[in-house]
Amino acid sequence: MAILEVSDLKQYFYLEPTFLAKLVSGKKPRIIKAVDGMSFSIEPGEILGLAGESGCGKSTCSLAIAKLRDPTGGTIRYKGQDISKMSKPEIRKYRSEVQLIFQDPYESLNPRYTAFDTVAEPLRALTDKNKAEIRDRTFETIAMAGLDPEEYKNRYPHQMSGGERQRVGIAQALVLEPELVIADEPLSMLDVSIRAGILDLIRDMSERMNFSCIYISHDLSILSNISERLMIMYLGRIMELGVTKDVITEPYHPYARALIAAVPIPDPAYKRPIPNIKGEVAQPIDPPPGCRFQTRCLEVMDICGNTAPPLKEIKPGHLVACHLY
Ligand code: SF4
Repeated sequence: MAILEVSDLKQYFYLEPTFLAKLVSGKKPRIIKAVDGMSFSIEPGEILGLAGESGCGKSTCSLAIAKLRDPTGGTIRYKGQDISKMSKPEIRKYRSEVQLIFQDPYESLNPRYTAFDTVAEPLRALTDKNKAEIRDRTFETIAMAGLDPEEYKNRYPHQMSGGERQRVGIAQALVLEPELVIADEPLSMLDVSIRAGILDLIRDMSERMNFSCIYISHDLSILSNISERLMIMYLGRIMELGVTKDVITEPYHPYARALIAAVPIPDPAYKRPIPNIKGEVAQPIDPPPGCRFQTRCLEVMDICGNTAPPLKEIKPGHLVACHLY
């Protein structure tokens, strides 16, 4: 059974017009459809990559899954249970089993907490462990995250480098031995030189602890490295979903093809082809009916302007939302 099943997830935000605009021209609220009908599932122990450009709804989706924001519509089932119908004790259990690794290790750590307090806090808040047990588990997790607990236990965030802070953030997320981890662009704020070490750490920990993971990134080279399946989003909708190798080597959706063609190749002699995409990134405010990608697609057809393409399986396990298929 899938550990997480997301069905028709919607997250809308309403932009109210000013009182004067409402009075004079009768303006109605505008709707930002940040996530608009996403459906997918994750198997136990699987790493699912979630890719897309900034503002496509990746992080909004993750906040709804982490139960930090109530979705506008759709259902999220964790181990078969609808998370919107959980009782208080069930929510408490859910919070201990589903953890987030944040993007910004400079902002996500409490500046008044030492590394020890940061990692120990979830144990104090969500378990009945005694002081000695909390100390042992905290030390063990800090060591697993690649830091010497004796050396780092009393350090505050400002006394650590970006990579060390992210290791503390990862230790905090993993100290409760979660079953599902949402890693929201955990490398994007780090120097290129330390990214590989943090990526190896997340991969190593996922193998050791066997948790499922939604790894969010706009960097396809990272996702091709870490994820087993890859999901590509554009303006709140899934465009393509399949085994990472298949999506990277044989993308079907015009947006997926353009995104993959834009991945940097470290070869000065390589001549990049002109991208098969036009126009600017569209806004998720009051999006047009039909395909979200229609304003940028070079293969747009009449049907694309009025009918949203459903996410269809065009090969076993490979789904694409495009009228071309
Ligand atoms: Fe292009 Fe139409 Fe496919 Fe959208 S549905 S990606 S507009 S061909």
